[in-house]
Amino acid sequence: MFDISKITRENVLAMKPYSSARDEFDGIADVSLDANENPFGFGLNRYPDADLNKLKTAFATFRKIRPDQLIFGNGSDELIDLLIRAFCEPGKDKIMTFTPSFSMYSVCAQINDVEEITQPLNSDFQIDLNSIQNQLDDPNLKLIFICSPNNPTGNTIDQEAILSVAKKFNGLVIVDEAYVDFSDETLVGQNLPNLFILQTFSKALGLAGARLGAGIGSQDVIGVLNKIKPPYNVNSLTQKQAVEALERPDEIKKQVSILLEERSKLEGELKNIQSVRRVYPSNANFLLIEFEDAKKTYGDLLAKGIVVRDRTSLVANCLRITVGTPEENLKLIAVLKDEQFDTSGRIGQFIRTTSETKIKIEVNLDDPKNSSISTGVAFFDHMLEQIARHGSIGLNVQVKGDINIDAHHTIEDTALALGSAFNDALKERKGIERYGFLLPMDDCLAQVAIDFGGRPWLEWDATFKATHLGELPTEMVSHFFKSFSDTARCNLNIKAEGDNDHHKVESIFKAFARAIKMAVRKDDSGVLPSTKGVL
Ligand code: PMP
Repeated sequence: MFDISKITRENVLAMKPYSSARDEFDGIADVSLDANENPFGFGLNRYPDADLNKLKTAFATFRKIRPDQLIFGNGSDELIDLLIRAFCEPGKDKIMTFTPSFSMYSVCAQINDVEEITQPLNSDFQIDLNSIQNQLDDPNLKLIFICSPNNPTGNTIDQEAILSVAKKFNGLVIVDEAYVDFSDETLVGQNLPNLFILQTFSKALGLAGARLGAGIGSQDVIGVLNKIKPPYNVNSLTQKQAVEALERPDEIKKQVSILLEERSKLEGELKNIQSVRRVYPSNANFLLIEFEDAKKTYGDLLAKGIVVRDRTSLVANCLRITVGTPEENLKLIAVLKDEQFDTSGRIGQFIRTTSETKIKIEVNLDDPKNSSISTGVAFFDHMLEQIARHGSIGLNVQVKGDINIDAHHTIEDTALALGSAFNDALKERKGIERYGFLLPMDDCLAQVAIDFGGRPWLEWDATFKATHLGELPTEMVSHFFKSFSDTARCNLNIKAEGDNDHHKVESIFKAFARAIKMAVRKDDSGVLPSTKGVL
């Protein structure tokens, strides 16, 4: 028989919970001087509703349950941790989890020094009742976590199996239904006292950024969790946003139905792709896919700007792919089919992640309309803007570098990535002018000649008096062009004279941009501009 007092930690049973100002007075007062709040503030100066009454009513209506069956957490992650802290004695008690599954149960167990017994799911990713039978009587086994639909496999776990575990077990069975809205099976409504359901606002409800999770269970279990939860764990903004979302159930349903339709389209498309060995059936908003070589596919997708989840450590050769918008899914399929998404456009992309810099660059040689540049080094941003504007190209540069050390890695790696993106955009280099050059500008004379001939080279003749322009070290200017020429595979011949270093650097970047503009111009011949037959 399940008895809450037998599974609750003794210190939790004995403790007196924190009592907040709002717990002690929840009435209506004209003047609130009880919680040491700032009476001015910026619209959020009062503590949130600790009982989350509006949210409870809205969610209870949405799920057709009673408000007193509910507890909320800062994401369901917080509730997973609360459950372990309420019921498992560190160094003594245990939880049971299944593999492959969501790793947070294990992480929270480790944080709390609670042993984890891991059972493998069978080949259909279902629970093998026989293999867990003996362990259910272990008096130190307090919690069993079952994820359904399961992450990362996507399938629902047989409900009869879950219920039979709950009936044989004296501890708590926690069913994580994070993806329940994408399936048609829920255990909400099965009123077993030791069944506790976790749900989240991060998936179908589209509020991952708000951090909100719900626990649905008996009042006994909710009572224990309420005793130990931080008093104001769900902030006012989140409560408000969540209530607003729950008041628009038709929109939620519509989004879910689009995603379900997209999931089934994706499933069909993926099955026809050569590198795909198997698409596992899914009741969630993602698909688990086995590839011929998952690591290679992961890298290929990333090089085209598509990030998916590498799950090869959990299920051999598998990637987990979230269902996106119809456009995103089309792009995914096009890349997997090794098709150019836009064959007419000369678009190049390069993504690079190291411990020093995280870089994403996109170059569009034929569309100067969209540019956005952010490297964290203002003067350098200004120079890259010159390339976009005076080169008449679209340039998207997003860089997060270790500028807390200095600007060196950011500038060097951006140049390397920019050159690679150009190299990608120029493809076989057919039908381009190939050469570009320019002479004077402003009070300075800057000359930049370029040859996209396939060989890297830099001739440099410019000196600067200043060591820095803004946060940009002037020694990095020639280094930028050297790095660019290495990966764009071009010759650069750069000279500049003049007095004002700012003007000199800017005119070099402008001249460079103009040289690029000339060199990448299409000559409509479609012919390779070389007698060698290759560039
Ligand atoms: N449970 C499962 C199965 C999940 O996949 C996730 C998130 N990936 C969570 C819980 C966490 O949800 P939340 O954002 O509410 O913390």
